[in-house]
Amino acid sequence: MTTATVTQKFSLAPLPYYKHSLEPYISEQTIIFHHDKHLAGYVTKLNELISGTRFADMSLEDIVKQSDGAIFNNAAQTWNHQFYFDQFSPAPQRRPYGPLMEAINDTYGSLEELKEHMNKSALALFGSGWVWLVCNDKGKLSIVSTQNAGNPLTEGLHPLLTIDVWEHAYYIDHRNARADGVKAFWEVLDWKVIEERYSKCCKNR
Ligand code: MN
Repeated sequence: MTTATVTQKFSLAPLPYYKHSLEPYISEQTIIFHHDKHLAGYVTKLNELISGTRFADMSLEDIVKQSDGAIFNNAAQTWNHQFYFDQFSPAPQRRPYGPLMEAINDTYGSLEELKEHMNKSALALFGSGWVWLVCNDKGKLSIVSTQNAGNPLTEGLHPLLTIDVWEHAYYIDHRNARADGVKAFWEVLDWKVIEERYSKCCKNR
């Protein structure tokens, strides 16, 4: 009898904060389910699916850009969630400065208006998906909604921040009230992280 083994290529990235530390905005219970169960499930499934395929030796980003079907769904959900969890902090920088703030003012008029546009996109998205702030190769900002596991990398865009609008992101804390989940999101978003992502985006100019 042979035992099939799956090489654990990708592993569950640890959180850069304690699971309870985003309370009262995102509960420890939400983080336990969202990170330790949902994200962990995508990582496990991805490792199973890529084992022995041409994707087995690729970076996660390349898999997202080149795959489709179940491999894409699990690779993109892994990428999206790592990117999502990394943007929070229990002591967030509460607004952007410098080139990112200038770009937000140029495109949306103010930070409040950007948030309003993204909140509207989050409420308008039917079913499961993600709302993204992205930039193009020239550093120009835009807001993109993707269905299910969708990721703007596949359109050649550079993600800066993302709102998870799958129900599992807010249902424990807010039940069906997606708007309340989105409101809480902004309270723990660390704009320092988003500034750093934008500075890399601008290097592509
Ligand atoms: Mn999620």
